[in-house]
Amino acid sequence: MVRKVTAALADWFQSEQQSLPWRGIEDPYAIWLSEVMLQQTRVTTVIPYWHRFLEKYPDPKSLARAPLEQVLELWAGLGYYSRGRNLHAAACQIVNDHDGIFPRDPELIGKLPGIGEYTTAAICSIAYGEPLAVIDGNVERVLSRYLKIDGNPKSGTARKRIQQAADDALDQENPGDHNQALMDLGRSICTPRSPDCQRCPLASGCGARASGEPTRWPTRRQKRTTEQQWWAAAVVVCGDQVLVWIGDGELLAGHRGTPLARLSGSGLDADKMIGKEFKRLGLDGAELIGHADRFQHAITYRKLFIHPLVYRYQGEIPAGVETIPIDGGDRLPALHRKSIAAARELLLEVFR
Ligand code: SF4
Repeated sequence: MVRKVTAALADWFQSEQQSLPWRGIEDPYAIWLSEVMLQQTRVTTVIPYWHRFLEKYPDPKSLARAPLEQVLELWAGLGYYSRGRNLHAAACQIVNDHDGIFPRDPELIGKLPGIGEYTTAAICSIAYGEPLAVIDGNVERVLSRYLKIDGNPKSGTARKRIQQAADDALDQENPGDHNQALMDLGRSICTPRSPDCQRCPLASGCGARASGEPTRWPTRRQKRTTEQQWWAAAVVVCGDQVLVWIGDGELLAGHRGTPLARLSGSGLDADKMIGKEFKRLGLDGAELIGHADRFQHAITYRKLFIHPLVYRYQGEIPAGVETIPIDGGDRLPALHRKSIAAARELLLEVFR
């Protein structure tokens, strides 16, 4: 039954496919970039980032040569920064293990940091024409609706059935186009909340549509609960500059920014916890000027309550620490930008 999907999708893709800058190219590196960026991010957001990345880092060698913080700066705004870190680590591995040439063997591709089954199948089918079926959230939704597959689409029997259906439906001649068509269909027509069955090329054979309740599938998973956390951010001012470190803790590791310290909840221990962080970083002699306005910030499942503290520092800048103008910081992650903006407000008050 699922074989009917193949031809219907191919015709639909021919006439309706979205025009995207990474369509029609066979460079595995550029395709990999697009696939990584598209994870949890909208196509319209990704397009300018994809162009900027390719312009600055046109191949794995140039990406591997770049310092990680520079890569993450270019990534800033796309969110889910572990993707940017993995991208850089994978480029380094390609240079070290494969002479800078993107590998062709799916097994080798799957060993690169951040590349799982989905990305391997996408790169191999689109760039090399390998008959590997891609399964992302869009494909899961389309197939579990088409075949009315109950159960968690990520595991167990439901997962096996989806995999089987994806393999059976795969167009062996044009696996890249087929995979992209199925993902496009999920993104544009068979959407999570309001599938447009009238316009769907699979409508005639779709079980979910026939049931009259297409959104019953796939079975919903429980959402990860939001976790509240309290953090202090230390904006250390030296003249008209702010000191920035490369983060190496739980939050925003690998990014330039202000020191952060996890708090107990009330925020009363902010100065003490930042003092410990300064000690760890080897910063001595920073003098507390005041507490800036607190703000909230969300990172994935975490709801963060940020307590910015402003310090004056007049000593020597420690090795490895950079400075940025206090009215700068545009390329820092949003959390750090907000802390510095709050510090600016406080400084205006104090020195008015
Ligand atoms: S007919 Fe409706 S529910 Fe079925 S695949 Fe198409 S859009 Fe999704």
